[in-house]
Amino acid sequence: LTQLWSPLHFLGFVYREIRHALADMERMFGLLRQDEEVADAPGARALSGAEATVSFDAVDFSYDGKREILQGVSFTIPAGKTLAVVGASGAGKSTLARLLFRFYDVSGGAVRVNGTDIRQLTQDSLRAHIGIVPQDTVLFNDTIWANIAYGRPEASREEVIDAARRAHIHAFVETLPDGYDTQVGERGLKLSGGEKQRVAIARALLKNPPIMIFDEATSALDSRTERAIQQELAAAASGRTTLVVAHRLSTIVDADEIVVLDAGRVIERGNHRTLVAAGGRYSALWAMQQQGEAAAADL
Ligand code: ATP
Repeated sequence: LTQLWSPLHFLGFVYREIRHALADMERMFGLLRQDEEVADAPGARALSGAEATVSFDAVDFSYDGKREILQGVSFTIPAGKTLAVVGASGAGKSTLARLLFRFYDVSGGAVRVNGTDIRQLTQDSLRAHIGIVPQDTVLFNDTIWANIAYGRPEASREEVIDAARRAHIHAFVETLPDGYDTQVGERGLKLSGGEKQRVAIARALLKNPPIMIFDEATSALDSRTERAIQQELAAAASGRTTLVVAHRLSTIVDADEIVVLDAGRVIERGNHRTLVAAGGRYSALWAMQQQGEAAAADL
């Protein structure tokens, strides 16, 4: 029996590793295919340490080698700080997140973590340091438990529940007849956009990475859910180096730095207060969103 146990145990390990890797690639980015485009450099080293400073250094990028999507984009997110990127649809915001996770390599310049070009790091170690809360979370056809535990398959029951609590999904799960054993995904219970996002936050919290990427949902959540999610995101970002791809400015009022992207170039940067005072693109966007929210509140 022991002879059988060892290979079975190994297979179980491989299975968990594969599921883990899948979660890491965050299918929701829809980028499994592109993932094959980058490979570890010979002699790539492992990223280590609990703190991470992220910098984009004159980054150029094109998906197809023809159309420039990013041009000369530079910014630094000091360890533990939050930087938000705003800009019109198609400006290149989500592309920045994809480059940081190294779904693609830059065409010019460099993305660095703690000063090292991420092309010199092993992908596994880079990705182990990054948690992603994607725009539209796709849940796996599995239990809520497994969907959260993808963040760290070896986590204990207490750790999973703690992450769920911090993501404000635990109380909801407790109301379900099967609790954490409830099947979700296409063939199971359909969760709302907000609930799915909370599962993604719990998964990222469980992973406990020094770097977080929040790709904010473009699809509208009701304003109460949105406020709740914002609080959860703020709690999850606390103490971590965080890149927020923002679609609503109300989310990022407290960001340490805001970068305004227009057609792949940084056109403004500062914090909310200085950008509103500057009377440029950000302040126009802000005024527009305020009006939109006031109109919505009148309904
Ligand atoms: P939104 O606010 O609508 O999410 P965004 O600012 O995040 O937009 P990106 O998703 O970064 O924009 O896309 C920037 C540009 O790159 C767009 O013009 C888009 O069409 C293009 N693009 C995005 N993904 C790909 C891809 N896989 N292949 C080719 N072009 C792409």
